[in-house]
This record gives sequence, C-alpha cells and structure tokens, in this order.
Amino acid sequence: MVSSENFSKDILMIDTNEKSLRTFDVGDMIMRQGEFGESAYIIESGKVEIIIEQPNGDVLNVGTRGSGSMIGEMSLIDNAPRTATIKAIETCKVLEITKQDLTRRLDNSDPVLRTAMQVILTRYRDTLMRANISDNNKSGDIAETTEHAYLEQTDIMERVRIANEFKEALSANEIKLHYQPIINLQTGEIFGFEALMRWFHPEQGFISPGVFIPIIEDNGEILQASQWAFKESCSALKRIQTTTNSSHNFHMSVNFSSEDFSSNDFLKNINNTISETNVKPQQIHLEITERLLMTQPEKAKETLSQCREAGMGISIDDFGTGYSSLSYLHSFPVNTLKIDQSFVRDMHQNKSSLELVRSIIFLGKNMNMSIIAEGVEHREEALLLKEMGCENCQGFYFAKPMSEEDAIDLVKNWKNPGI
Ligand code: C2E
Ligand code: CA
Ligand code: CA
Repeated sequence: MVSSENFSKDILMIDTNEKSLRTFDVGDMIMRQGEFGESAYIIESGKVEIIIEQPNGDVLNVGTRGSGSMIGEMSLIDNAPRTATIKAIETCKVLEITKQDLTRRLDNSDPVLRTAMQVILTRYRDTLMRANISDNNKSGDIAETTEHAYLEQTDIMERVRIANEFKEALSANEIKLHYQPIINLQTGEIFGFEALMRWFHPEQGFISPGVFIPIIEDNGEILQASQWAFKESCSALKRIQTTTNSSHNFHMSVNFSSEDFSSNDFLKNINNTISETNVKPQQIHLEITERLLMTQPEKAKETLSQCREAGMGISIDDFGTGYSSLSYLHSFPVNTLKIDQSFVRDMHQNKSSLELVRSIIFLGKNMNMSIIAEGVEHREEALLLKEMGCENCQGFYFAKPMSEEDAIDLVKNWKNPGI
C-alpha cells in the first residue's frame, strides 16, 4: 500500500531553483495502480484520495492525504509498480522528487546520514528480494510476486502504524460513527440505521473501516471499539428518536466482530448499555458475520439466544459470501439476512446473482426471517428487489452513511421515494 509520512516543511527545505512543482486539478490522476513510476511527491497544498483495486475487482478507498504528506515514496527505493491509484480531490500543488534527486542528495549529504540511509535502503531491498525468491519458487511470475512482496512489506508498516495509533484515536475523539438509513421498500419509510465507524485522522485524513477494522480485530482493540460504538449508537438512536419526535421506533444496526464474542463480559456490557441509554432492546440489531457461526458455533448460539430472548434482532451480514447454508443457519437464533452488496450490484448483468438474490429472499421468508438488501445504487435495483418481495434495503441510491445531525435532518425531511 502507498504509505505516507508527515514531513515538517523545515525538513523539506529544498532549493527553490531545484523545485519541481506540479499542479493537479480536481479529478487528475497523480499515479495509477500497477504502473511504474520513478517519482515520489510531497503535497504542498490540496488533497488527494488513495484508492486500491483489489484482485476481486472491489475498489477500496483507503483514505485521503493533505499538505505535508509524501505519496509514492516507495518508488525512490525500488522499481516495483505503484500499489494504489492516487487522484486529486482538490487542486493540488505537489513537489516531485525523483530517484536521481534522492541519490544526488545522499551523495552530497552528511556521511553519517548517507551511511544510515544506505543501510536502511539496502536492508529493505534485501527483505524484498528474499520474499521474492521464496514466492518465485512457488509461482514463477516475477512481476506478480514482486508486487505481492512489495504490498506485504508496505502493508506491515501501515498496519503497525494503525495498530499503534488506534487506541489514542478513540480517546481523542478521532473515531466517529456515521449512520446509513435502511429503507422499508414496501412502505417507503425509514426502517432504521446502520452505525458505521469512521476514523478522521488529523494528518492522514479519512481512514476507511475496511482498512482499520481487520487490524484492530487482530490486536484486540476491537473489543473496546465495539463497546464504544454500541454505547454511542444507542445514545444516538435515543437522540434521533426524541429530537424528531417520531412515533415510529427506528432500528439501529450495530456491527460486531467474531472477536467480540470471546469476551466473557459481552452480554453484560450489551445489557448495561441498553438500560443506561434507555433504548428498547427491540430497536437494536446486532450485525454479525457467518464467520462467527462457523468458528464459534456453541458460543454464538448461547450468546445470541440470550440477546434474542432480551428482544434484540440478529442480522447475518454479507450473506451469501460465506459458507453456511440456510438450513445450518436455521439452528441459530437469527432473524434477519443482509444480502451482500456484490450480488445486488451484479443482479442486472449476471443471471446467477439474480437467482441467488431471489432464492435468499424466498427461503429467508419461508424461514420467517426478514431481508435487507445492501448496496442499492440504482432505482432499477430497488424496483426489482421490491418486486421480488424484499422488505428492506440500504444503499447510496437512498443515502450514504451520514453524521447524526444529518440523520436527524433526513428523518425530519423524509419524503417517500416512491419505489
Ligand atoms: P458492512 O458492515 O458490510 O457495511 C456496509 C458497507 O457498504 C459500508 O462501508 C457502507 O458505506 C457501504 N455501502 C453502503 N451502501 C453502499 C452502496 O450503495 N454502494 C457501495 N459501493 N457501498 C455501500 P464502510 O462504512 O466503509 O464499512 C466497511 C466495513 O467495515 C463494514 O462493512 C464492516 O464490515 C466494517 N465496519 C464498519 N463499522 C464497523 C463497526 O463499528 N464495527 C465492526 N466490527 N465493523 C465495522
Ligand atoms: Ca454491516
Ligand atoms: Ca455488509
């Protein structure tokens, strides 16, 4: 992944006559994933977004970078292809630094600094080479394995940084929740919201939950993050409910990771939060993935049953992408299936996705489960889902995840979308 460090402007003191300043307008591509580049850039002003296309075609927006950040710095070290696409989202002035610039600067620098840099760069190259050799032995595709090794190396550095900074970010209020409305297709009303975490890093900009959640799942920070998210979303639900004076009891869906269920205090914390925030348990949906049911079936069954008995709903997120069959699911106290967005997106051009969506709706209904379709981006998808009997849906066509304030405005000004 393209990583960036923040450099103070003083460190960057570069002779004006050497400066290679370039301007990029909004939407301009500064570098493209997979292409080779010989330059890194330091952003003097403006903002860029970093996008990674994953092997399965999914596009991951990994964040933004602003003034003082360096992008594409790995090109100064080796000849690996770019691992991300970077586009200007504001007019940007960037300073271009080529590999030749760096070499020349090192040649003219303090000998201690030069030696230290050379040692670090050589060790970095050695590590990459070793990873390449062992990978090449397996597949023989040099370009692919170089990129793979490169990705792994930079990923590790990025992961360590994120893991180190998350805890502090949580107490510094850099982590927020955004709420995406879930719409009842049959009535056109707002059924509820899904709470989604956001990290607004003061220097790195927005960091996607798709990036930081798997990292904090690995280092255990997720437990504290989930507890915080649950409390915050229940409090927000209460505020949305009272501020809008709505007679309709909105639902709040909160995401939980498998790791959360290993904590002995899970149920106690959930119940405490529900009574402290004074929301009705019937308004709360816990979103879990099939992974939990597959990896901890007994624990999941017991804990989820107690949640259901207390009145909460249990949704299976990203349904269709895991391994569990509907009959297997039946033995768990699950009452909602969320059809994964990849099937919804594909419904129009791929008959098997359409049939999969149709059968999930059909079988889910027969098992008395409610269905939420995710990732609805077009009116035609909403129409088709309604026609197939899908109850609820969520997606950019209706609204993107938004702040609590915007969610309150949305409820106050809601107009039936007429699907
Ligand atoms: P998810 O739970 O499947 O959440 C849905 C994701 O799809 C969200 O991405 C949402 O912004 C995005 N989305 C919704 N509608 C559309 C659409 O029409 N088109 C497209 N392209 N995307 C749409 P987000 O917020 O980036 O979250 C990514 C994932 O991070 C979530 O996937 C969830 O697995 C995880 N996550 C987010 N917040 C939390 C949290 O509080 N706890 C846990 N454990 N995981 C979370
Ligand atoms: Ca979810
Ligand atoms: Ca999902």
